[in-house]
Amino acid sequence: MDQLNLVLREGLTGMRVVRSFDRQEDELKRFDQANQEMTMTAVQVQKIMAAMMPMMMLIMNVATLAVVWFGGLRISHGAMEVGDLMAFIQYAMQIMFSLMMGAMLFIMIPRGQASAQRIQEVLAIKPDISSSTNHQLNKKEIEQTQGLVEFKHVSFYYKGAENPALMDLNFTAVPGETTAIIGGTGSGKSTLLNLIPRFYDVSEGEILIDGINIKNWPIEVLRRKIGYVPQKAVLFTGSVEDNLRFGHDNATDDEIKQAASIAVADEFVRQMKEGYASIVSQGGKNLSGGQKQRLSIARALVRKPPIYLFDDSFSALDYKTDAKLREALITQTQAATCIIVAQRISTVINADKIIVLDDGKVAGIGSHQALMKSCKVYQEIVASQVNKEELA
Ligand code: ADP
Ligand code: MG
Repeated sequence: MDQLNLVLREGLTGMRVVRSFDRQEDELKRFDQANQEMTMTAVQVQKIMAAMMPMMMLIMNVATLAVVWFGGLRISHGAMEVGDLMAFIQYAMQIMFSLMMGAMLFIMIPRGQASAQRIQEVLAIKPDISSSTNHQLNKKEIEQTQGLVEFKHVSFYYKGAENPALMDLNFTAVPGETTAIIGGTGSGKSTLLNLIPRFYDVSEGEILIDGINIKNWPIEVLRRKIGYVPQKAVLFTGSVEDNLRFGHDNATDDEIKQAASIAVADEFVRQMKEGYASIVSQGGKNLSGGQKQRLSIARALVRKPPIYLFDDSFSALDYKTDAKLREALITQTQAATCIIVAQRISTVINADKIIVLDDGKVAGIGSHQALMKSCKVYQEIVASQVNKEELA
């Protein structure tokens, strides 16, 4: 049943891909295979059941017959009343029925056992990341987070991976500055960002916020300090406003509109039929990639946190919107620590500090000018993207 559900769900979510690659036939075959397997099992069970029912009935009726037979003999000898015989038949029936129910249990129990085992397996998993309970932060420290992020000799391995995804990173991201991270795909940019809200814990070294190891922050406090815009924009079913309030429940309408306009989302939201009350369908399917991205940026802005993490959040936007958005962002994020992952040179060129990642290692840190002089990897990235006019 599990297998059947798996195949069915994959077929449904990947419907367009299946169609565009003309794989309906294969998908049908795959479904058929899973279906066949389940059918076989079901048929086998039903066969046993089918044989068992008549057998049970036979035994029951033979038993009744025996009771009547021997009972009749005793009655004719005057050793028993007819009423007693009737009662005896009733008792025998009840016992037989219980036996039949018992037989049914033999089918239900293994089924239940298999499910229970799987549920146990899931429940037994302990989350890797545990919140710090013996932290010594007082309320004041928690309220007044500056947002200074420091990486000290940070290395990180994914579970079961041989090679490190990140190797010996050292840098600081200062409040009021923008720190950009650039590098090829698979160089570890998203991994680096994911370490800050503790989606994963570092393997070696430590990450500090305001000089305190993030492992010593209560996890919900830590995450409240961070406005995270993921690489793949995820929205939830509900109105546009609900989605933006996800960042901060008690935001006023004005704050919501302001965040949306900074994220250049205000305009297209207004043009939707019901403005901010318009419904976002499952997974944001009724919005374009760039629109989703802008809403997810607005969602982080509503929160007004001291630390912003943008994971390649501008890549789905055209150059004009990208430039407009970043200009508006500067005012809102003035006092905050901004860490921006980007692919485009134009996005990072004005950053206070650029970190060039290459295969999990830092290939260079500095401003655009400095890196252009000293960092070969950076020069290559620039050369591959920028034509002279654009740079000017
Ligand atoms: P980037 O964002 O720079 O494109 P990532 O940080 O996503 O790169 O990935 C860096 C490396 O880590 C890649 O080589 C990738 O294969 C590996 N990786 C990413 N996510 C996982 C994961 N969940 N499990 C194992 N390896 C992963
Ligand atoms: Mg990435």
